[in-house]
Amino acid sequence: MKILITGGAGFVGSHLADKLIGQGHEITVIDDLSTGRYQNVEHLEGHENFRLIIDTVLNDKLMEELIRETDRVFHMASAVGVRLIMERPVKTIETIFRGTDVVLGFCSRYRKRVLVPSTSEVYGKGASVPFREEDDLLTGSTDKHRWAYACAKTLDEFLALAHWKETRLPVVVVRLFNTVGPRQTGQYGMVVPNFVKSAIKGEPLTVHGDGNQSRCFGHVLDIIEGLTAVIENPDCFGQVINLGNAEEVSIRSLAEKAIAMTGSDSEIRYIPYEEAYGEGFEDMQRRVPSLDKAKRLVGYQPTRTLEDIINDVADQFHREIKAEAAMA
Ligand code: UDP
Repeated sequence: MKILITGGAGFVGSHLADKLIGQGHEITVIDDLSTGRYQNVEHLEGHENFRLIIDTVLNDKLMEELIRETDRVFHMASAVGVRLIMERPVKTIETIFRGTDVVLGFCSRYRKRVLVPSTSEVYGKGASVPFREEDDLLTGSTDKHRWAYACAKTLDEFLALAHWKETRLPVVVVRLFNTVGPRQTGQYGMVVPNFVKSAIKGEPLTVHGDGNQSRCFGHVLDIIEGLTAVIENPDCFGQVINLGNAEEVSIRSLAEKAIAMTGSDSEIRYIPYEEAYGEGFEDMQRRVPSLDKAKRLVGYQPTRTLEDIINDVADQFHREIKAEAAMA
């Protein structure tokens, strides 16, 4: 099959490209390398079934060509990371919503299967844990920029479901819960790469707030199993489906685990949220997915633990540090 992955040089998109190439599909990646990295797909260049196009999904003419000739679209291109969202709110809103509009418009015109990733951020400050797909969404006020990300993704969801309602576009929306693993950079604020890297370097791990807030981290390799399963199942069209892992951990214990598992003697530092993200920031205390729907529809069952995640991320940083040392 011919498969188009927008944002395919990004963290999740590049793992997806690896898996689909391994299955014998012809993959086209379009990525503007804004948050994606060439290194994530460098090993695929030269493969007969792989093509990388460095351009933006906002290039209508190109997107029309690419979508017309493909069988599936994974629209992974997006602004990512709380830090980026706080620092570049205009770009965040524009790239998320305009990009999805372009992709869904052409998928609708040419009747192509498409997957639109959303995020657990859309549940916002909801307190009925675990979060189910049909729950109300509770974001904060518009002067708290963090929520722009959730709202832009919510609008993506509405648009996808509107296309399904009006013309039965075969589209599926997935809400990803804190996806982590090798290739994710800590540059945009994500906690796991930041903690593991700091622990390995013997630098302090910076916990925001008191560290009692919790998250559930999903290994990227589990997540892509879910992504490839839902796009192939027509029962998933017109549906919103949570994907992640339900194992919950506080940020404080995550820091302790990262230190213990890497044999580090780093200390843990606690800083207020304002110091990390500036004014206008609100965090959520807990965020746990209900995975019942994914399980029911496609038998989704994550198999990798938080320990697997920390080990895999640590291995990646060790390799990078070694490679840097060899270059020096
Ligand atoms: N966090 C932290 N230290 C860091 C980065 C993040 O304590 O260096 C916290 C952050 O405030 C949040 C949690 O870890 O409570 C998860 O943050 P991340 O940005 O990875 O994901 P999200 O906030 O989107 O769940």
